Amino acid sequence: MLCEPKHWSFCKLDFVSKNYAFQCRSIVEQSIQFHHTGSEIVTLVEDRKLCKIQQENITSNGIIPPALQDTLGFPTLQSDINGKTLQENWKKMQIPRTYISGTLAVSILFIVGFCLQKANLIFPCKQEQIINYSEKTAAQEIELAHYERLRLVKSRNLRQMALFVLTPWLAPIVWNGTFDLSVLDKQHNNTRIGLFVFAVKKYIRFLQLFLETAERYFMVGHKVTYYVFTDKVDEVVKPKMADGRILQIHNVVADKRWQDVSMRRMEVLTVYTKKHMPNEIDYLVCADVDMVFTDHVGVEILGDLVAAIHPGFFLSDRESFTYEDRPISAAYIPQGEGDFYYAGALYGGKLDEIYKLSTTCQNGIIEDKKKNIEALWQEESHLNRYLVYNKPTKLLSPEYIWDTNLPYEEFIKKKRFVIVNKNKRKITR
Ligand code: UDP
Ligand code: MN
Repeated sequence: MLCEPKHWSFCKLDFVSKNYAFQCRSIVEQSIQFHHTGSEIVTLVEDRKLCKIQQENITSNGIIPPALQDTLGFPTLQSDINGKTLQENWKKMQIPRTYISGTLAVSILFIVGFCLQKANLIFPCKQEQIINYSEKTAAQEIELAHYERLRLVKSRNLRQMALFVLTPWLAPIVWNGTFDLSVLDKQHNNTRIGLFVFAVKKYIRFLQLFLETAERYFMVGHKVTYYVFTDKVDEVVKPKMADGRILQIHNVVADKRWQDVSMRRMEVLTVYTKKHMPNEIDYLVCADVDMVFTDHVGVEILGDLVAAIHPGFFLSDRESFTYEDRPISAAYIPQGEGDFYYAGALYGGKLDEIYKLSTTCQNGIIEDKKKNIEALWQEESHLNRYLVYNKPTKLLSPEYIWDTNLPYEEFIKKKRFVIVNKNKRKITR
């Protein structure tokens, strides 16, 4: 509220008497504030000077006595109050009002602009223009997959650790929708990847499908070298291979027991990761041969030390894990230790990491042999022990190694690498 020019002085007093505090400018442009501090006393503040004016100092018609006006810098002459000077002063008094309305208008414009931009109606965001349709779709899929997993996690009373996307030591667990392949593919533009596999004795029958499906789904568009170890070199059927992909076939001794064939892989790894592979590849993936690729398996699985969560134990309690529990074995894992049960049928990493892993496991196998014992699940037991004390930097969800005979299939939206049904007794005899 502002005073009319002609009632300027009166109006001030009127406000004061109605308990209003207000601010206006005197003719000498000094800022004066009136505060009513009670019915009797009026406090007036001017340039940090504090004056107390008794109510009786104000005349009955509401005009401040000239003596007091002098003190305050108010007009002392009635002509000043009614005349031209006052009109000019009134104009000066308008300045704060204009200023306030201006500020208000700018603020409203700013808020309206902000809301319109939020609704993307004006100034469409540059980033939006860059993001193309497929990237948007990928982002949505990632979000959906994440929420779906969370929903499943909450719906069951099972150990949920494997369903999350991070381990307690902050290694990612690769689930469908946790990665953007377009980004990773660019990052691994020049990466050379090896796929190590044994196909000894009757297991040669699995090799053809293994290699053919690998050509369809494994590291498509990247440089891949297959390292096939077999006792039946002549029986290897070379698949039709894409550019940049190489097949190496190596002869290996055929151990009598299937357990020894399986464990022999560690010994071969200690040699090849040290001597032959370093000039040829950057990462190595080690796999069982009794498997088929049924969906994409790409560079998202690469990491320093990568292990796959065993599909038979991904929702099991630690107590159910089939770790080696005899302290006499080099693969022994004490009660209460260990995080996941990892599969011996798929693991990988950088060459130096696989060298360390295979050397440790192979030494354990030799130690056990000297004691005439064998770990419960051969090299898988040694691998699990190694991974308890050397935490993998990346984990693969059971999407990357699945068995269609297993329960809880609803958790596995993509089955990428699937175990082939076999009659073990028949093929290992
Ligand atoms: N293996 C082989 N010939 C054999 C036994 C084993 O080539 O006679 C290799 C093959 O790569 C196989 C892996 O060792 O996939 C592990 O053996 P298996 O698949 O029988 O073990 P499981 O997956 O049943 O534990
Ligand atoms: Mn197998």
